[in-house]
Amino acid sequence: MKITAVETSMLRVPNNPPVSTYYRENRYVVARIRTDEGLEGLGYTMLVGGAGAESVREYLEKSLVPQLIGENPLHVGRLWQKMYDTDRGIRKKGIPVYAISALDIGLWDLLGKSMGRPVWQLLGACAEAIAVYGSGGFLSYSVDDIVTEAEGFLALGCRHYKMKIGRPNLMENVERVRAVRKALGDNVELLVDANQRWDVATHLKIGRRLEEFDLFWYEEPVLADNIAQCAQVARALNIPIATGENEYTRYGFRDLIEQKAAHYLNPDIHRCGGIGELMKIAHLAAAYDLPIAPHLVPELSIHVLVSIPNAALVEVLAGAPSELWKEPPEVKNGMLAPPNRPGHGMEFSAGALKRFTE
Ligand SMILES: [Mg+2]
Repeated sequence: MKITAVETSMLRVPNNPPVSTYYRENRYVVARIRTDEGLEGLGYTMLVGGAGAESVREYLEKSLVPQLIGENPLHVGRLWQKMYDTDRGIRKKGIPVYAISALDIGLWDLLGKSMGRPVWQLLGACAEAIAVYGSGGFLSYSVDDIVTEAEGFLALGCRHYKMKIGRPNLMENVERVRAVRKALGDNVELLVDANQRWDVATHLKIGRRLEEFDLFWYEEPVLADNIAQCAQVARALNIPIATGENEYTRYGFRDLIEQKAAHYLNPDIHRCGGIGELMKIAHLAAAYDLPIAPHLVPELSIHVLVSIPNAALVEVLAGAPSELWKEPPEVKNGMLAPPNRPGHGMEFSAGALKRFTE
């Protein structure tokens, strides 16, 4: 089999309120990998908020696609390396890795389809399903909004829920967590996410006050560029730290691990290098007994999560547009299982392609 063409397109998908108060929309760079045997792999990468989508598409088309044309798409690992090695003039963080991720995802999809097997079976399954954590609790929500949203996840059988911290009035964050903990009770695992807000001193001040609420994790405290500061927070607080959604490739995760920056790692399959690279990151982390809980993209991450021994949780965002997919991922009894369809099993719905294609 040979790759004959890679056709790209972009989707602009509006977010529902109140997520939209953070990011009005997300954009997807889509790459359909075509072959001489008629099989097609669907690759895509999502840019939260949309910034940089044109650059990812440009890099993918100009630098990476020429590396793939004429190649055997079943050599997924070799082609990942070929794409990675293409360009010595740019460091493999940010835009180039989003682009590599999209194509890697498309190649794994093709591999699965060519064998008539779902990707999780090719990766070597460890589990059938993974516990979901409900994610939302945005800063624009009232405490009542947060509790209502959390209760929606609890009704689906979830036992973990994540809310944001980072309101400018510092003590208000403590009071919001206190109120949510009180309303939900002690049987729910509560996670908080700072999204890189605040400096170390502020985290020590606020984090210490949050220790009494028995939080499951405290996510992405400081700028993702400053791993040493994340490690400082991790050493100082009596709450497990989670980070990694803004990190790239095994090398980035090696740095997080070596510097003991976190107790949970949150690679994003669209940012870290795709399915194969997420597997490598997970195995690297397994050697340190560090659990993996990927950032967003549950529909793809789940293939990897059920195939590793150190899966922690899968993130499902409140208000994610379900009309995006032909067959959207479905939470059952608080768990998410990967689809049994060949490849990664995902396809955009006809309606979404019509409404969201740019
Ligand atoms: Mg986060």
